[in-house]
Amino acid sequence: MTAQLTFAAPRRAKPSRHLADLTMAERRAAVAELGEKPFRADQLSRHYFERLTSDVGQMTDLPAAARDRLAMLLPDLLTPVREITCDGGTTRKTLWKLFDGSLVESVLMRYPDRVTMCVSSQAGCGMNCPFCATGQAGLTRNMSTAEIVEQVVSGARSLARGEVPGGPGRVSNVVFMGMGEPMANYKAVVGAVRRLVDPSPDGLGISARGITVSTVGLVPAMEKLAGEGLPVTLALSLHAPDDELRDTLVPVNTRWKVAEVLDAAWAYAAKTKRRVSIEYALIKDINDQEWRADLLGRLIKGKLVHVNLIPLNPTPGSKWTASRPEDERAFVRRLESHGVAVTVRDTRGREIDGACGQLAASST
Ligand code: SAH
Repeated sequence: MTAQLTFAAPRRAKPSRHLADLTMAERRAAVAELGEKPFRADQLSRHYFERLTSDVGQMTDLPAAARDRLAMLLPDLLTPVREITCDGGTTRKTLWKLFDGSLVESVLMRYPDRVTMCVSSQAGCGMNCPFCATGQAGLTRNMSTAEIVEQVVSGARSLARGEVPGGPGRVSNVVFMGMGEPMANYKAVVGAVRRLVDPSPDGLGISARGITVSTVGLVPAMEKLAGEGLPVTLALSLHAPDDELRDTLVPVNTRWKVAEVLDAAWAYAAKTKRRVSIEYALIKDINDQEWRADLLGRLIKGKLVHVNLIPLNPTPGSKWTASRPEDERAFVRRLESHGVAVTVRDTRGREIDGACGQLAASST
């Protein structure tokens, strides 16, 4: 069963910069520019990242006159347009309108032992993978660091207030698996990861181990990410072990081939000591043959790697569907015979088009 809530969403002028776009040093400078003492930046940051409020009216430790000036650093960035829930309210997809009318989506998934927020990093996506709904409309624009962070803060706020069934809770995991290609919006995404992992008052204090950045395989950006000193998990959307098929499923493969993206993944694992996750959507009769499982197994055996098989989620107008259960089982067995760790992803949110590859942000 799904429940739906719709909100009115006005379109606004470009907002002022948000404190989540800034490092603590930059926030202090911005606060000073507003004519306030630099330590107000710490107070304001605690309100935002700890108490999860952007409402200066509630910040009673700030003088009334200061509140109005400091509100400049907490502009509204995301306006909820629609919320759809399923799984008894523990899966929730929110459609957001950005100041310029762009639409993005985020998904909150509560499990017994964790809460994962799946966030968007771009409005739309320019990667054009034919099986993914987001890719079909093309790229609208990059999101800012604060627009990305706000999706997580908003989920954290709902959890803290007990609005998600299961009692008050916290966000433990963040996956950059919503709309967009995170590595094509590198600077904003790395800024967002820093805000997520930095302890309060700088940021939300989420463990880097709980954060996953997923990419189609933009090799130079993967290499750069390895050097950031951020031990986040890297997920590589591979979907085929051979260039001939991958060129069609993940068009950027014509630029960086399977061998190159895998080398970049191994370099990432070596540098961060984090196990890389290979994402592989199983598409009936397209990429689910046993010989392809075998080829994949040979390419990745012995590496610091884990394969996440995703039964293909249906997208509008696509002729492709998920693999037959017996083919899926055979694929898993073949991979395991190479000693590779494999899981089949539990795809949450399918009935609300909130599962992998289904985020398309239509408001109708
Ligand atoms: N652009 C990044 C981030 C999006 S993540 C990336 O591609 O990695 C979304 C994940 O869901 C990716 O692994 C993507 O390949 C996968 N996906 C896309 N469409 C899908 C679909 N229809 N069914 C299952 N998985 C899909």
